[in-house]
Amino acid sequence: MDLNTITEVVRRPSERPGADWHEGDAWLAGGTWLYSTEQPDLRRLIDLTALPWEPLVPTDEGLEISATCTIRDLYAFSWPQGWTAGILFRKSCEAFLSSFKVWNAATVGGNICMSLPAGPMITLTVALEARYELWAPDGSVRFVDALDFVTGDHHNILAPGEILRRITVAEHALRKRTAHRRFTLTRLGRSTVFLAGTQRLGANDLLLTVTAGTTRPVRIDRCNPTGSSCTGSTRWRICRRGSTAGPGRPISTSAPSTSTVRRPSRWSAAAPSHWIRWSPWWSPIASPRTRSTTSSTGSTT
Ligand SMILES: Cc1cc2nc3c(=O)[nH]c(=O)nc-3n(C[C@H](O)[C@H](O)[C@H](O)COP(=O)(O)OP(=O)(O)OC[C@H]3O[C@@H](n4cnc5c(N)ncnc54)[C@H](O)[C@@H]3O)c2cc1C
Repeated sequence: MDLNTITEVVRRPSERPGADWHEGDAWLAGGTWLYSTEQPDLRRLIDLTALPWEPLVPTDEGLEISATCTIRDLYAFSWPQGWTAGILFRKSCEAFLSSFKVWNAATVGGNICMSLPAGPMITLTVALEARYELWAPDGSVRFVDALDFVTGDHHNILAPGEILRRITVAEHALRKRTAHRRFTLTRLGRSTVFLAGTQRLGANDLLLTVTAGTTRPVRIDRCNPTGSSCTGSTRWRICRRGSTAGPGRPISTSAPSTSTVRRPSRWSAAAPSHWIRWSPWWSPIASPRTRSTTSSTGSTT
C-alpha cells in the first residue's frame, strides 16, 4: 500500500548505516510487512537490501545468514553433507503463511525483527541456538542469543536505530538431528503451535523449542544429570531468558511483564502463564486441526 507519511527513502545507505538515525526512521528489508499496513509514525525508510551483504556464508565455524537473506534464498541453499539440520531450515521456510511476495522478498532479519509469535525464522534460530549480531547507531556491536531477542508479541530488545546484521548458527548445531511438529487452524495457515526439537547425534540430550502458541520463544532442555539413561533421572528445564551461557539454565519462574498475555480459562492451570497467546486473531482451540511433522532422520507424516 502507499505509505503517504513517507517523505524520503534512502536507496543507497552507507556501508555502516544508522549514524544519522532519527525518530521517524525505519529499516526497510523486504517491505512485506512495512507496506502491508499504514505507518503513521514513519517519515523515512532506509533500504537495507541495497547493501552488498552476502546472503549465506558457510564457514569453518558454521553458517552466517545475512539479515537481508530472503526466504527464497534460504530455502534454495545446498546443504553440505553432514549438516543434518538443513531440513529444519526448509520446514521453517514452508511454515510461512506465504504469498509469492513474502516468499521472494521477505527476509530472515525482517521476520526476526517483526517478532511475531508465528515468526518461523525465530523458531528456527532459537531451536538451533543461533547468535544474532546487532549494530548500534554509535558504531558499537553486540551479540545476543536468539532465545533472548524476542521479548513478547511484536517486542524485542532492539534499541532505536539498532540493526540486526547477521545470524550465526554454529556447526555443532547444524550437525544435530532435528524434528518438528507444526499445527495450524487451516491447511496452509499461520502456525498456531510450532515445535522444533534438536538432539546431538548419538546423544540423549534434547532441546525443545516452543513458539507460535507462546508470546515469545520458549526452549526446554531435557537434561540428564547422571549422563546415563534418559529414563528415571531425566528432568526438564525451561531455559532462562537472559541466559548467555547456552541451554540448560534453571527454569525462570517469573511471569513475563507484557500485559498482552492472558491465560485462556480452558487452559490447564499447570501451564506456565506466558505460554498461550490470546488476541483477536488467535482462536482458543485446544486441539489445532492441522499438523505437519518431519524429522531429519527421514520420516514424514
Ligand atoms: C500475506 C502475508 C503473510 C505473512 N505471513 C507471516 C507468517 O506466517 N509469519 C510471520 O511471522 N509473518 C508473516 N507476515 C508478516 C511479514 O511479512 C513477515 O514477518 C516478513 O518476514 C517480514 O520480513 P520483511 O523482510 O518483509 O520485513 P519488513 O516488512 O521490511 O520489515 C519488518 C520490520 O522489521 C524491521 N526490520 C527489517 N529488517 C531489519 C533489520 N535487519 N534490523 C532491524 N530491523 C529490521 C523493519 O523496520 C520493520 O519494522 C506475513 C505478511 C503477509 C503480507
